[in-house]
Amino acid sequence: MTMLAIENLQAWYGESHVLHGVSFHVEQGELVTLLGRNGAGKTTTLRAVMGMMDRRTGSIRLAGTETIGLPAHRIPRLGIGYCPEERAVFRSLTVTENLMLPPQIGEGGLSREEIYALFPNLIERARSSGGNLSGGEQQMLAIARILRTGAKLLIFDEPTEGLAPVIVRQIADAIVALKKRGFTIVLVEQNFHFATEIADRMYVMDHGVIVDEMTPSEARADARRLERHLGV
Ligand code: ATP
Repeated sequence: MTMLAIENLQAWYGESHVLHGVSFHVEQGELVTLLGRNGAGKTTTLRAVMGMMDRRTGSIRLAGTETIGLPAHRIPRLGIGYCPEERAVFRSLTVTENLMLPPQIGEGGLSREEIYALFPNLIERARSSGGNLSGGEQQMLAIARILRTGAKLLIFDEPTEGLAPVIVRQIADAIVALKKRGFTIVLVEQNFHFATEIADRMYVMDHGVIVDEMTPSEARADARRLERHLGV
């Protein structure tokens, strides 16, 4: 089953036209990454999927349901969890309170115990307030928070940004574990080493459109193909 099918997606911030016909798809159980330079339109694509743009046109189907005409508050209830780049944990609430706050929207969410097994660092921080966590702990909490909801499609915006390699490793392991549990995952990533290691397929964006699609083995066989796009 196709979990996410995007066709000719255009999106605007006010008068500013930022996405110019994005098309890609994600099958059930796949881990797909969106790569691209700063400003390519990756975050905007995720925001458009969540209905968080001033205007969007084209087609975005979630497990077959067209969402382009739906208001933002209806979209998570179709089974999608969004972890934004800014993490947005509640600073004055404890870790446990942050975890328990999002509503359950479907069956099959992880229990608190399962979440703590995935992110053991959070156990000893359970009573700490969100504002006292390190960047890595906040990122883990931001991911953990959408796992209770029962969402089957998870979208993560640059979860490794600014984090130490040891924390990046833990987050990579958690994302791979979530894929093994059957979640479908869309990951925006600047770190193409990380993306190449864990993705099933990778899309590259530039100037508000998808400009290439490849598997990690294709990327490894032709390193210059990614370098050309990413300017690395
Ligand atoms: P980054 O890795 O820097 O987040 P990105 O690929 O996610 O890059 P976007 O954040 O989607 O890129 O930005 C795409 C374009 O939209 C850029 O030209 C950016 O300047 C513009 N843009 C982003 N946010 C806004 C906003 N709130 N209002 C107007 N333009 C915006």
